[in-house]
Amino acid sequence: MSNKYDTIVVGGGHNGLTAATILANHGQKVLLVEKRSIFGGVAAGEEFHPGHWSTGLLQDTGSVRRNVITDLSLEKFGLETNGKRASTAILGKQGKCITISDDETQTAQSINRYSEKDSEAYLTYKNFITKITPFIRDIMDQAPPDLVSMGTGDLWQLAKNGLKLKRLGKATMMEFLKVAPMSVQDFLDERFETDFLKAGMSVPAVQGSFTSPRSAYTTLNLLLWECLSSDEVVGGPQALTSALVKAAQKSGVDLKSDSDVRQVVLDEQRKVKGIRLDNGEEFFANKVAATCAPQEAFFQLLEPNQIEYSLEHGIEHFRSRGTTAKLNLALSKPLRFNGQEDDAMFARTGNSWLEMEKAFDPIKYRNFSSEPILETHNTGKAPEGCATFSILVHYAPFELEGGWTDTARNELTENIIDTLSQYSPEVRDSIVGSELLTPIDLKERYGLPNGHIFHGEHAVDQLLTRPIPSCMQYNTPINGLYLCGSGSHPGGGITCLPGYLGAKRILKT
Ligand SMILES: Cc1cc2nc3c(=O)[nH]c(=O)nc-3n(C[C@H](O)[C@H](O)[C@H](O)COP(=O)(O)OP(=O)(O)OC[C@H]3O[C@@H](n4cnc5c(N)ncnc54)[C@H](O)[C@@H]3O)c2cc1C
Repeated sequence: MSNKYDTIVVGGGHNGLTAATILANHGQKVLLVEKRSIFGGVAAGEEFHPGHWSTGLLQDTGSVRRNVITDLSLEKFGLETNGKRASTAILGKQGKCITISDDETQTAQSINRYSEKDSEAYLTYKNFITKITPFIRDIMDQAPPDLVSMGTGDLWQLAKNGLKLKRLGKATMMEFLKVAPMSVQDFLDERFETDFLKAGMSVPAVQGSFTSPRSAYTTLNLLLWECLSSDEVVGGPQALTSALVKAAQKSGVDLKSDSDVRQVVLDEQRKVKGIRLDNGEEFFANKVAATCAPQEAFFQLLEPNQIEYSLEHGIEHFRSRGTTAKLNLALSKPLRFNGQEDDAMFARTGNSWLEMEKAFDPIKYRNFSSEPILETHNTGKAPEGCATFSILVHYAPFELEGGWTDTARNELTENIIDTLSQYSPEVRDSIVGSELLTPIDLKERYGLPNGHIFHGEHAVDQLLTRPIPSCMQYNTPINGLYLCGSGSHPGGGITCLPGYLGAKRILKT
């Protein structure tokens, strides 16, 4: 392996793998360096109990962008999508359950068992989502215009986006502009009446954010999630990682695991010269694409005093307060939830606005709730006749009052199991093994800043100029340093887009 490259990619998550492959496909000599022994970043699956594999931290592959799949020819490397969005069971107490599937008529029927009005409202809601989807996808699928230098091309892009908004038609455009800044609670209250349906529907709006359903702009998050998620990858995050690794290898990317980047090395003019690993090994390139979090890129990988105060201040205040924990459960048998009629891949609790607010409240005081909000996923690998549940837990603070001691960890695990038992009474007796990952563990194992699942919150001020205005175009004030991970547009989730758009930006320079 020669040690001179055109671009070095730091981090082998799905964004790093995507960026490296795009660059190599355009003739660049690329090195990708990953500190762990496996690729996939937070999407890498791991065995947490003999025979039981989690799907990594991730559960939902419904947002992987079609243009990335096509451009990287991922289907040639074994990637299959199932043509539809996975079903989700929205759970309520006393055995209530509604299945939201890709089939709107079936979903409306499922809702109709609780409310005829809501079943009609759901079709109207989906009709609105269908209308705004092309507009939202267009905005999220392109690099944002450069609002700082605002050249002719950027003005043109802004004008085109404005035109696309107008083309939605007056009624849809006005509805979108009215509802996007609303709290998701107000938005759903205007449309639906069934408490557990509204609460369950709102979970993607608050996922990974220090917000409750009552927070302003949470509707925007719900709309983004609705518009961007579509068909799932068959085999989940691991199948995606496997196809991305094969595509990178085929394109000639040098993949180097077990290699912790300690420093991005700059020359006297503060231009990128290469990287240094923790074992002292050096590799040279005048471009580095960092897919770790922006905080790590600027504060850990650069020597102190290399960046201006305004940049340091901006990145320091890029909000990344971890709010999510993960519990993997090894079960002796497959389980269904009360009232569940089919094999929905996902399930969500929430139950009512009041209960969601109670689950959120303790995090303000650096604590966790006795009844957290849960998102479960049941497709981790398990021995014959057994099952694996992978559970996202909202809300759990990074800095727990008193620290994440064994007692605190046990208490949160018990709270989760107690909560889950209200929806599936056999769960406790079926558990044969478990693994809890608190936000502290997410930071330590995966390098996520404050354990934040998206490298930084999806708040409206952190979306379109992500992570901060002077770095929103993937390049940074450090000549040759690019940000191509979830801290860049369009943000976290398994889209592969920050890596894809970041690589396109590198190719233009
Ligand atoms: C618990 C949890 C659940 C989630 N659930 C979902 C979900 O269901 N659906 C969804 O779409 N999104 C989900 N997300 C969010 C999504 O996973 C992230 O936004 C996205 O995966 C980040 O991808 P990435 O490639 O940008 O970064 P990462 O996957 O974080 O990859 C960065 C890589 O860089 C490596 N690295 C960091 N520093 C260095 C260094 N110094 N040297 C070498 N390597 C380094 C890391 O080891 C890592 O492999 C979830 C996240 C978490 C934590």
